[in-house]
Amino acid sequence: MRPVDGAGRHARRRARGRRYRSDGPRSTPACCGPPRSSGSGRISEIRGWRYLDGHALLGAGLTHARMGRPDFAALIPALAAAARAAGPPQIRNAGTLGGNIVSNAPTGDALPVLAALEATLVIAGPEGARREIPVSHLLAGVEMLRPGELVGFVRVPLLHAPQAFLKATGRTGPGRATASVAIVLDPARRGVRCAVGAVAPMPLRPLEAERWVASLIDWDGDRGHLDPQVSTAFGEYVAAACIPDPPPPEDGSDPVPLPPAAIHLRRTVAALARRALGRALA
Ligand SMILES: Cc1cc2nc3c(=O)[nH]c(=O)nc-3n(C[C@H](O)[C@H](O)[C@H](O)COP(=O)(O)OP(=O)(O)OC[C@H]3O[C@@H](n4cnc5c(N)ncnc54)[C@H](O)[C@@H]3O)c2cc1C
Repeated sequence: MRPVDGAGRHARRRARGRRYRSDGPRSTPACCGPPRSSGSGRISEIRGWRYLDGHALLGAGLTHARMGRPDFAALIPALAAAARAAGPPQIRNAGTLGGNIVSNAPTGDALPVLAALEATLVIAGPEGARREIPVSHLLAGVEMLRPGELVGFVRVPLLHAPQAFLKATGRTGPGRATASVAIVLDPARRGVRCAVGAVAPMPLRPLEAERWVASLIDWDGDRGHLDPQVSTAFGEYVAAACIPDPPPPEDGSDPVPLPPAAIHLRRTVAALARRALGRALA
């Protein structure tokens, strides 16, 4: 009989580990399974998505690159468009949905889309605790992550209707948004949902403009036949709601005009909103 040397023992252990891994975590004995297999299982769980009660449960570990692919775009087109616009390829390969939400930068491209979709966050806490909050609550600071909590999933309603995301940057090529607009149609509720990103610390919802334009869409006929003047007016309505005029001075003197940079930003938002609505209704 040949003596078993150290290297041989290690080789056999490695082979056993490989066999357990290929069988999947369930066949791994709880006492001696390679720790990496359960860890990678957990990670892969939040790097994908699944369906639940008419919603998509998106893992917080989904990268922008993954969300930009065609199969994801078929599911949530506006989020896919935002993911494709989120910085250069290195950032899209590494940056995640959860990181984009929790870092809560005004220029986060996923944020206006999630606000328009009225997504909720599934938050995992210590000792298996779990709670859900609207994404807008976290972005507005109404509710915060508590110590030890992680965003596990993002619950997004599947609306099965056109959506659009458009972004303006201050430079050619990938860059942070100076303004962005997400438009989501909700035919079941005859609603248009719009959120504007980057112009304020959190995405803004111009609710009156949403209701106004939704009332003018022929939901039972050809949605695409919206008068171009209505689209233009919608863009201006959205822009004025998000970048309002300064309040009139209390002493009754002449109103202060908007600064040129704000006028320019308003025009940008108006153009984005008009075009995004046109794309969603096309
Ligand atoms: C050069 C550059 C350009 C960029 N351009 C854009 C752009 O154009 N558009 C855009 O949208 N974004 C842009 N980003 C941001 C990028 O897309 C990522 O969203 C951001 O860098 C966060 O990266 P991350 O997912 O690796 O998170 P991390 O850097 O790993 O984490 C960020 C923070 O979030 C916390 N966190 C992460 N995940 C979770 C979770 N699941 N639960 C709780 N907390 C969590 C971390 O603890 C950390 O505090 C850019 C970033 C860089 C560096």
